[in-house]
Parts: sequence; C-alpha cells; structure tokens
Amino acid sequence: MKRVILFILLSLLNSVMAHASFNEFQLQLVANHYQLNYELDVSGQSLLASGVIRVKNISNEPADHIPLRLYRLLTVTAITDLNGVGLPFDQQILNNDDWPLLQTNYIEIALQRPLKPNESFSFNIEYSGYLKGYTETGMEYVKDGITDNFSIIRMDAFAYPIVTYPNDTVNRQAKFWLHRYDYDVTVQVPIGYVVANGGQLITSDIQSDKQAFRYTNKLPAWRMDFAIAKYQQYSNGNYQVFSWESEQKSNALLAQISKTFALYQSWFGPLQQNLGYTFIEVPKNYGAQADVTAVIQDASGFNELNRVYHEISHQWNVKSLDVFSPRWDEGLATFLEYLTLDQMAGEGQLAGKTKQVLQQIRQLPEKQPLYGETSFIDYGKAGLNSYSVGMVFYQLLYDLMGQNTFNKIIGGFYQTHYQTGATTQTFIHYVKLNAGIDLTHFFDEWAYSALFMKRIEQHHSYQQLLNFYRQKNK
Ligand SMILES: [Zn+2]
Repeated sequence: MKRVILFILLSLLNSVMAHASFNEFQLQLVANHYQLNYELDVSGQSLLASGVIRVKNISNEPADHIPLRLYRLLTVTAITDLNGVGLPFDQQILNNDDWPLLQTNYIEIALQRPLKPNESFSFNIEYSGYLKGYTETGMEYVKDGITDNFSIIRMDAFAYPIVTYPNDTVNRQAKFWLHRYDYDVTVQVPIGYVVANGGQLITSDIQSDKQAFRYTNKLPAWRMDFAIAKYQQYSNGNYQVFSWESEQKSNALLAQISKTFALYQSWFGPLQQNLGYTFIEVPKNYGAQADVTAVIQDASGFNELNRVYHEISHQWNVKSLDVFSPRWDEGLATFLEYLTLDQMAGEGQLAGKTKQVLQQIRQLPEKQPLYGETSFIDYGKAGLNSYSVGMVFYQLLYDLMGQNTFNKIIGGFYQTHYQTGATTQTFIHYVKLNAGIDLTHFFDEWAYSALFMKRIEQHHSYQQLLNFYRQKNK
C-alpha cells in the first residue's frame, strides 16, 4: 500500500504542476501535420476548435510526453488517441521562464508508451475559448480577437497549439522553426465573412447561415495565418489580394506585386518554387508578417509601397541555422525597400533615407549602450534590432561590390542554401569568396567588432564612410 501511495505521489510530482522551471528540458518533438477545424462565433467573440496534430520525435532519446502551448484563454476540453481513447494530460496557465510577461496555457500530454526517436504520433485535440491579444507582453501588434469587424488566428497569439515549452531558450536550442509542417485547416464563419490565408483554397461550402473555408499549405509552413473579415478578393494569375480598400487601389497593389516579383527575379534569379503570393489586409497596427506564400499587412501597404517591397524581398532569404539569429535579412529587406523605390519611381529615395538612418544610428548608444559595444553578428544574442544598422551594412556591400556582383551574391546564396538553411558565418564566407574584392577589413569591422559604430560616428556623410571602406577593401 505504501508503495502505491508513493507511486501516486511521484506521478503527481512528475506532472506539469511540479515543474519549477523548464531550463533542464530538451524539446524533443516537432509538429509535422495539423488538421484543424475552427468554428468562429463572432457575436460571442469566441472560438471552438478540434482536430488532429501529428508530432515527431526528432531527438535521440525516447520522449515520454508532448508539450503544447496555447493562448491563455483557450482551454483544452479533450485529448484522445486516434481510436478515441482519452490520453492523460495536464494544463495550467504558466508564465514563460525567460519572459514572465508571456502567459500561455501549457498542456502536457503523458505518453504511456514513450515515442522512439524518429517515431510519429497523432492525437485528437479539442479546445475552445477567447482571444484577447498579448499587448500586455509588449507585443503591441498582437491585438488578436474574434470580433464583428476582424478576427485572426495566428501563431503570435498561440491561437493553435504549438509544440514548445514555456521557455524560449529551450525552444531555440531545438531550432524548432526549421521543422516545417503541412496543414489542412477549415474555418467556419457566419455567411458574409471571408477567410483569407496564403495556402490553397480547397472548398468553401455554404451550410445555411455558415460558410466553411478549407485551406491547405502550398509549401511546408512554419506559421499559419487565417484572417477573417468582409473581404473582397482580387486575383491576377498566381497573385492575390484580400482587402477592404477600393477596387482601384486593390488592383493597383496587385499589379505592383507582380512587378516587384518580376524585378527581384531579374535580380536574384527564380524562386525555388513560385507558387504565387497572397497579400492579406489587416487593421492598422496588427503588424506585418511574411510567411512562405503570403504577407499580412495593414492599409499602409497600399500607400507605402516600400513596405510591400520589404516583405516580398524576404522570399529570397535563406532560413537561419543560428541559435540566435542576428536577423541581417531585416537589414537587407530595409535596404531593398529604398533601392526598389528608386528603381520603380526615380532617384533620390535611398540617399535621403540613408542620411536619416545614419543619424538614427549615431543616437542608438545613448538610448541603449549595448549598441555601442556589440558586434553586428551578435545582435541576435544581445536582442538588438538590425533594421537600420543592417540597411547601411548592405548598402556599403552593394556600393563596394557593384549591383551585378551584389545581386549575384544575394541570389547565389539563396539558390545554394535555400534547401538546407545557413548560418550567418556561412553567409560571410560566401560573400568573401564571391565579392571579387578583399572584404576582410570590412567584415572585421562590421561583423566581428563594434568598430563600425565608431566609423559611422567619424564620417559625416555616407559618401565619406563609403570612401573609407573603399580604400581599405580592394
Ligand atoms: Zn522584415
């Protein structure tokens, strides 16, 4: 009897409630398939969801549980195996170990038989509740909710279960973002609403006063976005726009999207798979995000075309194999925004922007001393923003090498590493090898030390800065 009690006590201790912290955990599983059904109640501002998730053990050790995170106001009501047999699970609202402002519903499913390395396992899950955003965490753009005007189901609000722990250091160690998945998701909404997604629309069946939109991914995905509003839909071949702007504005944007893809293709070569592109309008301040075949953006995307160029240029990025990516691709996208404006609409935008950005960079260390001492390659680790420093970095590379070589390098790096991904080190090596000039000095100052900040300080104009690097990198 004592033994039985001890066993029960130990089992309880072993459950989710007993985790003081997840620091010692290893993320062993990834999701490789989602089949989900959502029913949105826009007047009740709630959702009901069910479906099947398949996970795979990508570690070398057997896994005895499945960790999931879900939005804090979404409650799991059932988890069963594919035969309908209930699986034991715990759920609890937890603060992230390394980001206490972020609360998620942490669900841990106990596996009676551990999952062997490489083995997959599918389970049914049902959950329901509310989405009320995450602005309290500092993610101001995550204003997500289910409302009459606009609803959104996306990763940023954990609106679907994500196989991770409430500890981002542990999640990052597993590079979970590299493991892509397929999805098959149906979202049922009151008639009159349209569900927008970057995948393939399979069906859009109407049943009395409801319409169900079923989408599957076009390419292996790392995020899913389903935006729901009274959208109009515009298409031109592979390109699509979901918007509530005027027909004229929407068609103009559609034309611009096609033109931008054609321009970047002429610069960087074809995309590995050109499956089209979907632009989805979201309300102001809901953020802009690019995934493999779609972008979500607010109305400013219709007026400020540089934002559209920015997001489209991300299509030619290589996924990062760094544990903490310095996100240099944001610098590249920012540079390309203004270069493209110049190419599409005449000269002048880039030079003005560079002047402004250099001025901003000079003031960065005052606001955050880390900017004065951090080498650019460590920006990810230090949590620094690489948009403006990265813009100048890429502009210097562009001017040092010339447009032809620059395009060949950006395009060639994409074509070489698209399948596997690459580290920032690999990128530097690739640039050095193909630049046609010796860039050792440039990378010593820009990638491996914070000297570039001093140079920006010392030189009063971009031209002077460029001349300095021209003399040192021939
Ligand atoms: Zn970006």
